[in-house]
Parts: sequence; C-alpha cells; structure tokens
Amino acid sequence: MGVLDVVEIGHPVLRETARELSLEELASPRWQGFIDDLIETMRARDGAGLAANQVGEPVRICVIEVRAPNPRYPYKPAIPLRVLVNAHWEPVGDEVFENFEGCLSVPNLRGLVQRQLRARVRYLDRHGAPHDEVVAGLCAGTHQHELDHLNGILFVDRVSDPHSLTTLAGYERFHKAEFEARIRELVARVGS
Ligand code: ZN
Repeated sequence: MGVLDVVEIGHPVLRETARELSLEELASPRWQGFIDDLIETMRARDGAGLAANQVGEPVRICVIEVRAPNPRYPYKPAIPLRVLVNAHWEPVGDEVFENFEGCLSVPNLRGLVQRQLRARVRYLDRHGAPHDEVVAGLCAGTHQHELDHLNGILFVDRVSDPHSLTTLAGYERFHKAEFEARIRELVARVGS
C-alpha cells in the first residue's frame, strides 16, 4: 500500500454517495491502513484535501491538510492534518464568499464556486471520537469541497458562472492576482 491512484471526473464512483463506517470497521486494520494511504496520497499530490471516493472507495472518510505554502494553493493558510469520518456539515449564518477551486479529480481546471463563510462540521476522528466545530473562511471552503465529494458532488457542479472556468495556466495568467488579493482580505478578516 502507499500512494493510491486518484480517479478523475467521468468515473462513476465520484458520483456515488459514500456510506458511513461502523466504529468496528473504523478500528479495523483495513480502514486504518486506508486512512494512512489516503493521507500519503493527498501529500504526494499536493492536495489540500482528499475524499475516499477519489481513490475509488465510496465510504464516508476524507482527510484535510494544508502545509503552507501549498504549491497548488499558495494563499491558503495552514490547516493541521485532520481525518474526518462520517462527517456532515451545515451552514452557520448566511454569509457566502467566492472561491476559485480546483480538484485532483478534475485535472487542469479551476472555477469560481460560492461557499458558506462559516460551517458547522460534525465528524468522528480516526479513533472514533466525536467532534463538533465551526470552521470559517478558506478552511470552511475546503471542508465543504471535501464533504461534497462524499455526496457525489464535484466543484464543477457548483460553479456559479461557467465563464469563470479556466485552465491552470489561464488562472495564473488572468485571474490569480485579483483573486489572491481578494482572498487575502477575507483571510485577514476571518482568520482562516
Ligand atoms: Zn476535490
């Protein structure tokens, strides 16, 4: 085991709703080993997060970590490694922000997606302990992106204006400066 293959848009597993794991399953070597592989794969591919569907397993597990600066997302503040099992989220308040998103399962594409500025996230960690917290800003956006995967949703489904879709080179050339200036203001305001 180790680094897993990441499946890409068009693969049906990305459209499946992931199933929850029992505590017994979660504690098993099979799923503990899978979590290690998911983390290793996210790090090898410079992802900010990775959901189990993306490596072909429709179970409700995702991992999130930003070790700043991330080469794919240099403006993202650090997020310590977290493993979310059986996670669900709901909006807190109604403030939203526009985030330029990309995805390891949607190669060479970025697009503007509207995300809730604050979200309440409930999940189990890899040891089965429950967590209930509110996340904000880009961190909240990352959580919403990963939890969308577990419901079979890709960021392209949520792109509000298809005119914002761009290759990575197009993003760097035409959109990066404006977006990063705007997003750094948001990060300064909400702290993440
Ligand atoms: Zn993704």
